[in-house]
Parts: sequence; structure tokens; C-alpha cells
Amino acid sequence: MNRAIKLILLGAPGAGKGTQAEIISKKYAIPAISTGAIIRSAIANGTELGKAAASYIERGELVPDAVVIDIIKERLAAPDCRNGFILDGFPRTVPQAQALEDMGVEITDVISIEVPDETIMTRMSGRRVCEVCGATYHTIYNPSPRGGLCGVCGGQLTVRKDDKPEVVSERLAVYHRQTEPLKAYYADKDILKIVVGQEKLEDTTALTAKALEG
Ligand code: AMP
Repeated sequence: MNRAIKLILLGAPGAGKGTQAEIISKKYAIPAISTGAIIRSAIANGTELGKAAASYIERGELVPDAVVIDIIKERLAAPDCRNGFILDGFPRTVPQAQALEDMGVEITDVISIEVPDETIMTRMSGRRVCEVCGATYHTIYNPSPRGGLCGVCGGQLTVRKDDKPEVVSERLAVYHRQTEPLKAYYADKDILKIVVGQEKLEDTTALTAKALEG
């Protein structure tokens, strides 16, 4: 494929956006940008951004638009984004999508990975994330080759605080209320594709690749 890919992955928390973002990132050698991972690393490092965002994340709520828009503006200005990128977890509201447009960013593809809420609730209990590099795994669907350590960097794998069941159900409600309207927003622009998330990771990967290439 010769065209630059400027892709947004939509989907509820736990739908598999992060995993697909990592796979597409390797395949096309373009960066996968996760606002969630950037914020978690800011929290771990105790920065001002981290302090401002921590309470929202722990409650399963969205961090204010202005904060994440600033993060993405800075990240997209980096030279590695010149030939394309994947946005995993941004935009999450219509004002965030509008901010991208105002920045002059021309999104080429939007893929929504759709998984029923009940499946997500079950899945989240097995999710693990690397404390150091942010790579994501699942104890059953996508285990690390190194057990409790990250297959990429050897860091410790942990359960995210916001993967607790009560926080997950709040995050799902927030997704339906604030993020799902983005499907209509991008369908209107004719760049939305739907991928039905499959039980097997590689099946979702194949459908996502088809949506991107077909
Ligand atoms: P994620 O890893 O994408 O599930 O993000 C984890 C948490 O970070 C979310 O539940 C939000 O609290 C926050 N967050 C990440 N991206 C955004 C965004 N684009 N807008 C608002 N909050 C966000």
C-alpha cells in the first residue's frame, strides 16, 4: 500500500483497539498513539498532567477535552507521524474530532471494532498492561511469551486500576454516551468501516486488515 494511513480506531474499552493498533503499527511502520497510555505514563511519572488526570481515570470518566487535545497536538507534530499514524483512544468526543480537523489533520480511515458489552466485561478481567512500555496482553487471548513479564521490554505486567468491573461498566456507559456518536460523525464523511470483533485475535486482525486494504 502506497498511501499514507491516518487511522482512527474506535471501539469500546477492551474491544481490542490497542492490540490491533500495535499490529498495524508494525505492519506499516507507523506509530500507534494511545492517549490512555500517554496519560498513564504521566501518572506514573507524577507530572502535572498526570496529577490532573488521575482522578478522572480512576472513576472511569473522560479527561477534559482541552487536556487530551493538547497531548495529541504535541504528539502529532513529532516527525515520526509524517508518514501516517494510528490513533487508539482519540478522539473520544465530537469536540475532540473537531479539534483534529481544526489542526488540519486529514484522517484517511476510521475503523470501529464492535464487541458486545457483556463480552467486554468478561474480557477485561484478563487484561494486563506493561508498567514500563504500555504494551497490552490478555491472559487467555494474547498472553505474553514471558508470562508475567512484557514480551517487548521485560517490564512487569499489571492489571490497570480502571479495569476493575465497576469502573469498566462506567467506562462502557461513557463510551456509549460520548464516543459512539463519532460513528455517525465519520460515517457522514464516508470513511467509517465497521469490524465485528471476533473471539480469536487473529480473526479480528484479518478483518481489520481487510477493512484497511479493501
Ligand atoms: P484507554 O487506555 O484508551 O482506555 O484510556 C484510559 C482512560 O484515559 C480513559 O478511561 C480516560 O479516562 C482517559 N482517556 C484516554 N483517552 C482519552 C480521550 N481521548 N479523551 C478523554 N479521556 C481519555
